[in-house]
Amino acid sequence: MNVYDSDRMADTLAPHGYQLCDAPDDADMVILNTCHIRENASEKVFHALGRYKPMKQAREAQGKDMILAVAGCVGQAEGPEIIRRAPYVDIVLGPQTYHRLPEMIERAKRAKKKKMEEGGKKERIVETDFPVESKFDHIPAPKSNNRISAFLTIQEGCDKFCTFCCVPYTRGAEFSRPVAEVVAEAKKYVDEGIQEITLLGQNVNAYHGEGANGSGEWGLGALCLELAELDGLKRIRYMTSHPRDVDDELIRAHGDCEKLMPFLHLPVQSGSDSILKQMNRKHTAERYFEIIDDLRKARPDIAFCSDFIVGFPGENDRDFEATMELVRQVNYAQAFSFKYSPRPGTPAAAIELQVPESVKVERLKALQDLLNQQQIAFNQSLVGKTTPVLFERYGKEENQYLGKSAYMQSVHVICPRDIIGKLLDVEVTEAGSNSLKGRLK
Ligand code: SAH
Ligand code: SF4
Repeated sequence: MNVYDSDRMADTLAPHGYQLCDAPDDADMVILNTCHIRENASEKVFHALGRYKPMKQAREAQGKDMILAVAGCVGQAEGPEIIRRAPYVDIVLGPQTYHRLPEMIERAKRAKKKKMEEGGKKERIVETDFPVESKFDHIPAPKSNNRISAFLTIQEGCDKFCTFCCVPYTRGAEFSRPVAEVVAEAKKYVDEGIQEITLLGQNVNAYHGEGANGSGEWGLGALCLELAELDGLKRIRYMTSHPRDVDDELIRAHGDCEKLMPFLHLPVQSGSDSILKQMNRKHTAERYFEIIDDLRKARPDIAFCSDFIVGFPGENDRDFEATMELVRQVNYAQAFSFKYSPRPGTPAAAIELQVPESVKVERLKALQDLLNQQQIAFNQSLVGKTTPVLFERYGKEENQYLGKSAYMQSVHVICPRDIIGKLLDVEVTEAGSNSLKGRLK
């Protein structure tokens, strides 16, 4: 979603004369769009700011300026801390206020002028409220940088309050964009030649957008079927979904809609019911298995991806073994796994029984070894088979092209003619842990 948001910030600033540039050192403005989900993600922001500081000073020594802004969830959660630790930052904004960037830039410029003329302390612009009006009503229609595949935010924020997670505090309350707005944005992309759209949301399947002409609220399944009607759109994906919000309509859509890719990111976090309860995930391992079974019945070729947290406070060996057992049962095609990272202000951070770092490291390694084995086995299961690949990029070697399979695997082929933008059948000849090689049928 940060990729989508960064593109929208660029779109918002384009009418004001700003253009993207390749390197920061001679930029008029640098915006760091940040993530607060784990501690190392937010620490990266302060390291990056340390790199931009001398660039800003060098520009100032030449009589030019560099406006330095911190956007995104670290801005939202740690605005005052950023100003304290990095006082050279001019603007701090949250994920819901970036439509106001042009106005913030004007204010930052005025503040600089005032300081030069009158001295004293320079005012910093901090905009981290959750405005009543939606930013989507104020940002220009997007233009895609990638010619083949695009992201489209349809839902934002979260009301689930998992006890480990900062999202409800940084992105704000759950919100769904109206169906007509989503369809119009998708249509614009398709008119530009986009063939694959990934619908985005912190909990994308909690989507409940206002339907067209008073048709009530629509769920994600109905929205996918509507988008599938767009000629020229070949693939639909969505992420990230929550097990609690998988409903029958969405499961049916996976069975009925060819364009909906048979690859689902459905995070479970843990296989232990006791940990799931303390995480406030609102489902059991058993319920997760049922959902997986129902989806496999609806779409037998579906494959799954998940997120896992190891070392949640209080997690014991038995809880961890339950996670390993869940992984063995589901058999994932891909996964993301993390050590629990206490986030300030979240309930789990206050639990006294934190798991020692050494145990987290050990569990993460065991889990990742298993998940990697499954990923390699899944990739290898495609060798000798023919699978459709949408080609997006040129590879590093001569005549090499890179595309994506239905399962998001990168697929390399050699071909003498240009196949960018083509959806072609590829016979898979080799599989590594992260990518496949093949030849065009
Ligand atoms: N809405 C999605 C997840 C969004 S956050 C869901 O409910 O599944 C993306 C992932 O970051 C989560 O799935 C989780 O695995 C990880 N994550 C979130 N907070 C974390 C924390 N405090 N420590 C470690 N990992 C975390
Ligand atoms: Fe965070 Fe996802 Fe839980 Fe919402 S549902 S609080 S985004 S982990």
